Amino acid sequence: MLTNYVYKLRPKTTQAIKMSNWVDMLRSHYNWCLNDRLTQYAQQFILGEYCDVRTKAEACPMTCFVSKNGATGEPWKDSEQKNPRRVAGDIQITSLPELKKARPWYAGIDSTVLQQNVKRLDIAYKNFFDSVACPKGMGRGFPKFKNRSNFTSFTYAMGVKVQGNKIYLPKLGWMRFHDSRLIPDGFKIKAATIRKRQDGWYVSIRIEDKAVPDYIARPLTDIKTIIGCDLGITKLVHLSDNHQIGNPKFLTNKKTKRVLKIRQRRVNQKVKGSNNRKKAAKKVGKLHKKIADKRQSYQWYVANKIVSIKVNAIAVEDLNISAMKRRCQPKVDEETGRFLKNGQSRKRGLNRSISDASWSDLILKIEYLAEKHGKVVIKINPKHTSLKCQNCGHVDASNRDGEKFICTHCGYMSHADINAAKNIRDRAFSIVLGDSKELESQGSKRPKYCKEISTRPRGKRVEPGNLCKQDIKAVMS
Ligand SMILES: [Zn+2]
Repeated sequence: MLTNYVYKLRPKTTQAIKMSNWVDMLRSHYNWCLNDRLTQYAQQFILGEYCDVRTKAEACPMTCFVSKNGATGEPWKDSEQKNPRRVAGDIQITSLPELKKARPWYAGIDSTVLQQNVKRLDIAYKNFFDSVACPKGMGRGFPKFKNRSNFTSFTYAMGVKVQGNKIYLPKLGWMRFHDSRLIPDGFKIKAATIRKRQDGWYVSIRIEDKAVPDYIARPLTDIKTIIGCDLGITKLVHLSDNHQIGNPKFLTNKKTKRVLKIRQRRVNQKVKGSNNRKKAAKKVGKLHKKIADKRQSYQWYVANKIVSIKVNAIAVEDLNISAMKRRCQPKVDEETGRFLKNGQSRKRGLNRSISDASWSDLILKIEYLAEKHGKVVIKINPKHTSLKCQNCGHVDASNRDGEKFICTHCGYMSHADINAAKNIRDRAFSIVLGDSKELESQGSKRPKYCKEISTRPRGKRVEPGNLCKQDIKAVMS
């Protein structure tokens, strides 16, 4: 079994500075690798015709592309294997010694960390191609160039040791950490990811014990009882057994909104680039982290509560949240050409509440815990669940009046969201029983996600990494 344990690190000042530098260097390397692949990919369009890569000539970036997500470097393996061509990730990993020669300060980074950095890009590509191939793809999107705010971590694949409250990280040395949770006996450390957050450094240790079996979920045919969950904003969860679980609104409550506004204003009032601005910005960051931590903890509590209900399966809606948060269409006055009110400012408030409730995270936690308890999570198509009458099956938009549900056909009265939760439960039951009609409606169609890739070759640099100031001077003189 594989799991992750997260601990807060207590690095020395020198170690913290070193880790910050590593993150900066690795970000630059990541971006260089991505740019390299994009440039290589663009070559095929510049040439305008297909290049024959079956010949064993060394591919030159000026004349030929290697593969559709290729990279500059040696594309052929030494050995006479079945498929001697390297994929982009392998090309970039094998060129790491050259990087260290050209940019000696990269040699200070542990080699497995550099390799994992390239693999991270591979994973980004894989997620993109998977989401394009999958018809229900939620669109992971094409790999993006990273900046300081979205590139804050690096991963060790080997060499990490833990002793008491000390952890050994290769090339950084021994470091103390808050030993908040014991690593169980028999588990081996597979990898460790170091992450910078607003209030310090954290390590996520990936541990594995092959002797402990993975959790096995029940087959669908075993299911006798199901509970339906309808996720909402006024109450976070409505259950089909008439229970409700509240939504504390960690971000969108009146007090937090006000505090955030004031703290953000303090940042904006400071001179750009000043230390005072940085300090003020740090306070905003810390508040955001606190809110996120509170939400996490509450969601685990809610997920535990739902999973511990004595049923075999949990039915949830398969929500397309990015579609729910889509902007309103602009309205234009045809005579004057002015933009009219389209309700976007009101929608923005709703969107923030949706983000704050963070349903998809909650569903992920429920899925994880359900598997642990040997239960099944059934995702159902949410179409009409809130408009259908539980009593007679009549579907009508006027059935709903705010939180009240009154059927226009048979006069059945209920709480609207609990009615929806019961519909969700019933739909899940018909899936379990193999109702073909319901299974058909399950195949909701979503547009394929595909982003056009620029054919323009990017960047001029041919060597990976950033030039430091001394190096530029050395080149100039
Ligand atoms: Zn009815």
